[in-house]
Amino acid sequence: MTPRPIPVNQPLLDGNEKRYLDECIETGWISSEGPFVKRFEEGFADRLGSGFGIAVCNGSAALDIAVAALEIGPGDEVIMPTFTIISCAAAVVRAGARPVLVDVDPLTWNMDVARLEDLVTPRTRAIMVVHIFGLPVDMDPVIELARRKGIRIIEDAAQAHGQTYRGRPCGTLGDIGTFSFYPNKHVTTGEGGMLTTDDAQLADRCRSLRNLCFKPEQRFVHDELGWNYRMSNLQAAVGVAQLERLDEFLARKRRMGAHYQRLLAGLAEVQLPLPSTEYAENAYWVFGVVLQDSIAFDARSAMTRLADLGIRTRPFFWPMHEQPVFRKRGLFAGQTLLHAERIARRGFYLPSGLALTAQQVAECAGALRQILQ
Ligand SMILES: *Cc1c(COP(=O)(O)O)cnc(C)c1O
Repeated sequence: MTPRPIPVNQPLLDGNEKRYLDECIETGWISSEGPFVKRFEEGFADRLGSGFGIAVCNGSAALDIAVAALEIGPGDEVIMPTFTIISCAAAVVRAGARPVLVDVDPLTWNMDVARLEDLVTPRTRAIMVVHIFGLPVDMDPVIELARRKGIRIIEDAAQAHGQTYRGRPCGTLGDIGTFSFYPNKHVTTGEGGMLTTDDAQLADRCRSLRNLCFKPEQRFVHDELGWNYRMSNLQAAVGVAQLERLDEFLARKRRMGAHYQRLLAGLAEVQLPLPSTEYAENAYWVFGVVLQDSIAFDARSAMTRLADLGIRTRPFFWPMHEQPVFRKRGLFAGQTLLHAERIARRGFYLPSGLALTAQQVAECAGALRQILQ
């Protein structure tokens, strides 16, 4: 047995991270003005085949900027999944616009794209797509609908670095892509984020919004309110080192996912992630499981039982329409989206970090089988 507890996530930082950080210290370049920021932005955009990369301080900030850059505000509606992180809805609500929520597809756990068209109104300005747990959203119908209705697409690819949809890189399929580099993502900078776009004007707006909307001609005179959402050279140095290994990291995650699939195959008590769809191979950002209704306890109880065996887990997202913070504001009153409500209560994910060993995967799968017996 390996040492317990087995953490839910542990990043791998054994490439050039230390060397590049030393370079920052030795040269004195630690702020966002340092050379690694540009190198990371260009490297990331190149890797995706995107026109521009704009590095920011985290993935939530990237979403704030995406919404602001598209000039979404009061009176506007943004269609998005209910099953996602709060950052998506928070960006829209803070901008004064209204999130319009879509239930999940019970097999992929992604937004059910068949429901989108019915939700479009004259106020719809954007669809915010979120690729969940490493399997992309079925994008072609989204792109077709958006074109037909003149709606923009914000693509939250924070769980989909290097992932592709029908061979096209996630994060390049909409008007603006957003990424996070939190330590549980495929590429980490500790804290960090990125926007991607092919539109030079949008890229300029993103750069300005991340930097307090300083004006090039008259620095301390502002036409607009931005944020200080800049990424430091230290973060970018780690990012450059991580990006060098993205293909290796993707392969590792897919190996981990396939290993879990083999060890848990035939376990009737849980629903496993889809290994693939017709448009993508799962990149297993995390390995989620959903307890079938035959199990008398819920995810919370399963997670406690696993914790008692020294296995750390995380619950699934709690749906946006059930968030007290939004209900208090009068949003989503009386709304029910049953598939999301069910997986929020029945779903959780197993240890899935890049440093996870095959031995640890085997121990986690064994512990899951044990608590379900
Ligand atoms: C992690 C994540 C974010 C937020 O990124 P932070 O860097 O933690 O702010 C946003 N969207 C999704 C889908 C994420 O997984």
